[in-house]
Amino acid sequence: MQLRFGTNLTSEEYIRQQAWQEAMLERCPLHPEGGCGVRSHGSYGRKVPAGLRIARFYCRLGQTTISLLPDFAAAWLSGTLGEVERVVEHAEQAPALASAARDLRPELIDERSAVRWLRRLMRAVQSALTALVTSLPELFGTAPRIAALRERLGIKGAGRGVLTRLRALGERMVPHLRAPLGFLRPLRARSDDEPDRQHREGPDPGGGHR
Ligand SMILES: [Zn+2]
Repeated sequence: MQLRFGTNLTSEEYIRQQAWQEAMLERCPLHPEGGCGVRSHGSYGRKVPAGLRIARFYCRLGQTTISLLPDFAAAWLSGTLGEVERVVEHAEQAPALASAARDLRPELIDERSAVRWLRRLMRAVQSALTALVTSLPELFGTAPRIAALRERLGIKGAGRGVLTRLRALGERMVPHLRAPLGFLRPLRARSDDEPDRQHREGPDPGGGHR
């Protein structure tokens, strides 16, 4: 399972400082009463960004690996929330999803796969943003879009910071929000014609070890 590692560090700072070594797990999320033998279990590396490592813990009683994901990191996806944010904002401002997909994934010869990729990402992020703006009083009335949320949060400068800030602000909801903002496993790619699915809240269905 994944937990938040609250940090204001950027990915560059986190990597330079090897900050995963300082990630602490105060109590086991499965056994907050303690006594389960949870302990450090090293770290694992991500390919992107290069050099990024994620601290890991292991609960012996629950036979569960627990990863501490720094706030800037996308969940269930390589890369950072800042990169996700730039993609989503570009798509929000583009005249059509297809043109945004062409801009963002020019290497994909098959435009349909670029559109599918972008549509999946947009749905996942929009479902998380919608849940946040309808649940957090400080965001009530804000459109579930990057630009509107940036303004509401008073973040200066486009292209960074909104999703990372929401990870912290919506901390209690994050386990129930769809990845890459939240920790819920991405929906499997099904048919493109599938109508938009309602966001469902609930415990992480992945639950166990990975
Ligand atoms: Zn435990």
